Amino acid sequence: MLYQPGRRREWTTTGGVLYYSYGETRYEAGPGGTVGTLQTDYGYTGQRKNGYLDTYSMGARDYDPRLGRWLSADTIVPNPANSQSLNRYAYVLGNPLKYIDPTGHISDDPHERREAANIIEELSYYGVTIDVDWGWDGETWNEGSWLLGELNLVLQSVKDLAAKISEELDNDLKDWDNFRKVVGPVTIRRERSWAITPDGKRERPARTYGNTITLYNGTFDPYGSTSFDYEGTKGTIVHELGHAWDHNQDREPSNNIGWYTAREKSPTEYGEDRGDNEKWAELVACWVYKSQIDEGRTLGPRHQQYVSLMVHMSYLGACPTHPTQSK
Ligand SMILES: [Zn+2]
Repeated sequence: MLYQPGRRREWTTTGGVLYYSYGETRYEAGPGGTVGTLQTDYGYTGQRKNGYLDTYSMGARDYDPRLGRWLSADTIVPNPANSQSLNRYAYVLGNPLKYIDPTGHISDDPHERREAANIIEELSYYGVTIDVDWGWDGETWNEGSWLLGELNLVLQSVKDLAAKISEELDNDLKDWDNFRKVVGPVTIRRERSWAITPDGKRERPARTYGNTITLYNGTFDPYGSTSFDYEGTKGTIVHELGHAWDHNQDREPSNNIGWYTAREKSPTEYGEDRGDNEKWAELVACWVYKSQIDEGRTLGPRHQQYVSLMVHMSYLGACPTHPTQSK
């Protein structure tokens, strides 16, 4: 089957595929619980699976999930101070869970650096640039604000939105090509702080200026406890992607939403209260993650139609102009 990244997001984001901690497929189930073949050739951390070789290509070397070790030596010289890292075949210094540990900063560990680089590379296919704040400053390793798990969540969110866009366009292009055409270029940066209002209250979890998104602590810590699979986090990221999309399409999506959806309720109160740009961003988040919809509300037919229209218009580079707008 042709690889379509994120096309079947039930396989990657809402369960169905579980993996042994060392990466071997443990269970595969389709919608409804039927055991089937894996629909994606990517393993649990996003590496391409090498068909019959049953190993995971990791750039310079391959990893065999059954053997629990790399098939070729890491090309990066390990830290001699760590005796475990002298075994260049050890997977994540003998601790596979650390590799997918969502709480860890990106350390000067070759595997963590490589994992972060893999995520950044995959995001670049979608036209999404991560503002890298970790690395060597010449003297010491700077951990930066991003956590590996956070980068992964950004990738998942981008893939989820891209999959919805592809589903709508129903063409033969890759999800990332459709995403680039419709949403346009996006930069995402991480600030390890809370966004504070002038009167000292915690503000929005994230913010978007132009097509640059800043994710604050509130994106990943919505209720004061760190959670990396909380759909609200992905909803926030997709909401911000909606703002960037709006910006890249010259604000046509938000300019027209009030007129097109008329008095049909916004899917969330937040969108209703904050004006048309928030209405649009909330629509995008709710379109991708239905559970984001406030209790008792639905994504009405006009909102559904509007987001479909904007996908096609953005794709064609032909967003409509508001009838009353002089442009
Ligand atoms: Zn917003």
